[in-house]
Amino acid sequence: MLKQSLKTQLSLVISLIVLITVGLISILSNIFIDKQFKDYKVNQQMKNMEEIINELDSQYNASTNKWDKGSVHVIGMNALNRGYIVKVQDEDKNIIWDAETCDMIACRKMMDDISKFMADRYPSFKGEFIDKAFSIMNKDNEIGTAMISYYGPYFLNENDFNFLNKLNTILIIIGFFSLFFSAVIGFLIARRISDPILKTVAVTKNISNGNYKERINEKTSIKEVNELISSVNSLAKSLEKQEHLRKQLTADVAHELRTPITTLQTHMEAMTIGIWQPTVNRLISCLDEILRIGKLVFDLESIAKFDNNILNLDKSKVNMKEIAEKAKATFELEILNKKLDISITGECSTVIADPNRMNQVIINLLSNSIKYTKEEGKIQIELSDKGNFVKLVVKDNGTGISQEDLPYIFERFYRADKSRTRTTGGSGIGLAIVKSIVEAHKGEVGVISNVDEGSEFTILIPKA
Ligand code: ADP
Repeated sequence: MLKQSLKTQLSLVISLIVLITVGLISILSNIFIDKQFKDYKVNQQMKNMEEIINELDSQYNASTNKWDKGSVHVIGMNALNRGYIVKVQDEDKNIIWDAETCDMIACRKMMDDISKFMADRYPSFKGEFIDKAFSIMNKDNEIGTAMISYYGPYFLNENDFNFLNKLNTILIIIGFFSLFFSAVIGFLIARRISDPILKTVAVTKNISNGNYKERINEKTSIKEVNELISSVNSLAKSLEKQEHLRKQLTADVAHELRTPITTLQTHMEAMTIGIWQPTVNRLISCLDEILRIGKLVFDLESIAKFDNNILNLDKSKVNMKEIAEKAKATFELEILNKKLDISITGECSTVIADPNRMNQVIINLLSNSIKYTKEEGKIQIELSDKGNFVKLVVKDNGTGISQEDLPYIFERFYRADKSRTRTTGGSGIGLAIVKSIVEAHKGEVGVISNVDEGSEFTILIPKA
């Protein structure tokens, strides 16, 4: 199939529609005006003849029973000049006045002129001279008849033809003008529709070539095109984010592995060449690093399993408050050391969930709050029911998270703390695990946070 550009196709379709519409309007209006005009001419002819008869009516004097032949002659000759051959008879069929008897030559000439003129100017017209009889009345009595011979069904004079020609010319000019303007308008409309689409296509191509920073800044008055533009822009935005995270992830994994591996390498080298004695403490330090790598690999593995939906959840009826209390107990030492005030409040329904995974969720959230809250800080765990969900909120008055970091904190390895010092000890994977587990339970995660004010993490788990 022949493929044309959107602009060409739109222009062609719009121009074609306009062409057909203008053509149809021209043809129909021509037919309509022509018919109306001819009906008007037929009526006009009838009216003219009735006028002649009316004039003739008044030329009869009922008291003397006489016709005013002079006036009849004037009426007859006037009629002849207008194309009507009149013959007037009284009631006994005696001829009062006859155009042909009066001026045969003028009659013949008039008939020839009209027939020739019509044949010349309107060759397809089938007209001829027709005789029509009219009664001449005086009050209610018939006092005679008038036979009028005229060119029927109608005839057109020079003025009529000029009028019709002018009308046709005007229609043709209007047709051409509307065609021209419609083609221009069609082209402009086509351009208005196609330009943003073409730009979108160009930008989309750029995006697919890896230029994820590209955006379409076009605004149009077409709703669907605007929707297309904003969809492409948000697609580009999410690709840009994914690309950024992918690069970040590689760098982060390398970083997370490099430190323990370097430590292990130097320790092991020192011990194998005899610089260091393999003391228990040194071996424990190496083991710590190995455990660190092992935990990282384990965390990554479980996220990968969540991603691929292959991690089996061992679900049962779970009381989230009990789990929260258990999680709090694991941090007893840290809470004591930092003199933190941790409260668990509210009641909630049971949920069907994997208790070990839920424990991991609360532990991750709580360990973050503990990590990022200063001494004597306050942490609240609130439980409640919200619609079909159980809501668990972990709220602290710690360091808070900046608004730029907030959208990324659930991404794996993302750390708001860019210095990557090990002061907080995290690897930026805790919240990614929280998100994976909650979503595997068909729940939702959310966060509100302000720097220096604190953070509020919310999870929703469907009720049992
Ligand atoms: P990490 O192991 O680094 O804590 P997480 O995935 O648990 O990784 O968290 C990602 C980042 O989110 C953290 O590095 C930290 O900057 C920020 N964060 C998470 N929880 C809190 C919190 N309660 N208060 C302040 N910042 C937080």
